[in-house]
This record gives sequence, C-alpha cells and structure tokens, in this order.
Amino acid sequence: MKRMIAMVLALCLALACLGAAAEGGLEWAEAPAAVDEPAEEAAAAGEETADADGTGEPAGRLAGVKIGIDPGHQEHGNNGKETIAPNSKKTKPKVSSGTRGVKTKIPEYMTVLEISFALRDALLAEGAEVYMTRETHDVDISNQERAKMMNDLGVDLVLRIHCDGTNKKSANGIGLFVNKSYAISKESKRAAQCILPRMVEATGAKKRGVYERDTYTGLNWSTVPCILVECGYLTNPDEDVQLNDPEYQKLLAQGMVEGIVDYMREN
Ligand SMILES: [Zn+2]
Repeated sequence: MKRMIAMVLALCLALACLGAAAEGGLEWAEAPAAVDEPAEEAAAAGEETADADGTGEPAGRLAGVKIGIDPGHQEHGNNGKETIAPNSKKTKPKVSSGTRGVKTKIPEYMTVLEISFALRDALLAEGAEVYMTRETHDVDISNQERAKMMNDLGVDLVLRIHCDGTNKKSANGIGLFVNKSYAISKESKRAAQCILPRMVEATGAKKRGVYERDTYTGLNWSTVPCILVECGYLTNPDEDVQLNDPEYQKLLAQGMVEGIVDYMREN
C-alpha cells in the first residue's frame, strides 16, 4: 500500500513538472513575438511620418510647422565684435564658449547640442520641419549669423537652447528669454508663455519665468518669433547631472514640443 501511494505521488510530481515545463516553454516561445510587435508598430509610425512629409498629408500634431533650433555656443568662442541689434552701435563678442558642468565638467556647448538633438527628434516625430544652426561643435557661427540664418529660412519659431551658469550653486530651474524692444517681441513672449509651463510639467524643474531682455544679439536680430531657453543651471551640481542625462533631455524636449503644440493651436 505504501508503495502504491509512493508511486501515485511520484506520478503526480512528474505530471506537475511536465506542466510547468510546458508553460515555461510556451512563455519562452511567445516572448519574441511580443517584442517584435511594438518594433513593427514603431517602424510603421515612422513610415507614416516620412510619407506625410513627402505627400503633404497631415500626420503628427506639428505637420507643416517649421521650427528652428539654435544649440548655443560652439567649441571655441569668437571674441570678434558684432552689433547687438539692428540700428544699434553697441557691440558684443560674436559668440562665447558658454559655461560648464560644475560636477560633470561637460561644457555647455556639448550639453545643449544633446538637448537640441532630443528636441529635433521629438519635433520630427510630430511631423515638424526642423532646421538647426549647427550639428557639430567645431563651427564658427556668430549669434547675429544664427538669427539671420533662421530669418532667411522663414521658420515659424526659433528655440535657442542654452544652460545657465552663476556663482550661486543653489540657483536652479528653467527660464525663458525674449527680446523687449525689437521685432516680434510680443509674439515671442506669447510662445514662451505656452512653452515654459509645459517644460516645468514635463521635468518637475523649478519655474523661473519668462523674461524680456534687450541684451541678447541672437534675439534682437530675429525677425521670426525667437526664444532663448535656459534649460537649467550647470553650476548647480544636481541640475548639472540631470541636464546631461539623456532621459532628462528627452523630458525637456517633450515639454518644449507640448508647449509648441499649444502655441500653434492658439494661432
Ligand atoms: Zn549659453
């Protein structure tokens, strides 16, 4: 009798093991199919966007919208002088080399190009036409030239991507700047007021504000709506690390895209 019970128990155990193996095998077999599906979907979505660009069919919330991106600074600054505004005799260096990460030691011109690439990709995914003043570090393009480049292209909006720096380590947060007294001042401010809250919402960063200043050559020479975006402080150790994190860069980009969508909807 004892032997019978032992045999039945052994049989049950064997069956249970078989069942588990079959389940495991089934899961394993299904897994690659599940991975394939989203990849195919993404490829299809990409094709749709590309088709829309070619045929003019609307796809994406920014189809038909032209956006300029000016990644601030460059590898080597240019101390040659240029006038800061049309009809002004006041001059400033053509382009400075910017600040750098207090903790990562990464220079601003590198950080802002990465943020700009994330922004470009997010805009393209929404069907926008994107133009960049630079895609490498070793260039020599003055702030006035950057503005004129975008004026000539006739873009709908320019975002000049920067990170801030100050000697106060605790300073942090996002601030947007527009010109006060020159062309398209009001329109730029309206766009900035759409973009700032969306960037804060996406990143959880501190909201500094939208500021009007006549001190930026690149803003003053712009004849299309133009905003200087200070994405955060590289002189703040925590924000420096965040600003150089690709995931955080994507959040900044997504916030800017949502703000641009809001702004274009108002138009
Ligand atoms: Zn800068």
